[in-house]
Amino acid sequence: MKLEPVECYTKEAVYRAVFESNFDLVPFIPYIRTQTKTLIYEPQSMLIFKWGSLNTKKNYQVALRNKEIKIGLVEDRTERQKIGEELLEFLTQLISKKETLSPSCEPVKRPPVLEIYKHLPKTNCKACGEETCLAFATKLNLLEVELENCPEILKNIENL
Ligand code: SF4
Repeated sequence: MKLEPVECYTKEAVYRAVFESNFDLVPFIPYIRTQTKTLIYEPQSMLIFKWGSLNTKKNYQVALRNKEIKIGLVEDRTERQKIGEELLEFLTQLISKKETLSPSCEPVKRPPVLEIYKHLPKTNCKACGEETCLAFATKLNLLEVELENCPEILKNIENL
């Protein structure tokens, strides 16, 4: 487990908690999707979903890719510890009962650029590496950037 700074984000210390899995998570994604709110799903490669922690009473965006799990945003190691163990327990239980779930392989309809833009803060802060929020929305629509690159949208994830 480690903390990864969110790039270019200078207003306050924010991190992503990063965990390594012992096995490839991709085959389990269609099952995990049935019990979570999918934000982005790419068959055979990744899932980003919304997850609420009972420990911290906060919502997080969780990204699963192969053997990697990223949770954003967290403030420090204590928060990482609290949510990390809880999320791993959640995933372990979900995977263990996968025989009772009907896998969901339906693609997620990608929202249009302006719909994505509506959810962005429109501050053009450049923390994502793009010049404007509209440029970020356009690249997100094309899956050229990751949702988690915008720390502001992560902070507002409760509203998604
Ligand atoms: S999408 Fe907009 S608010 Fe989010 S990091 Fe990029 S410029 Fe800043």
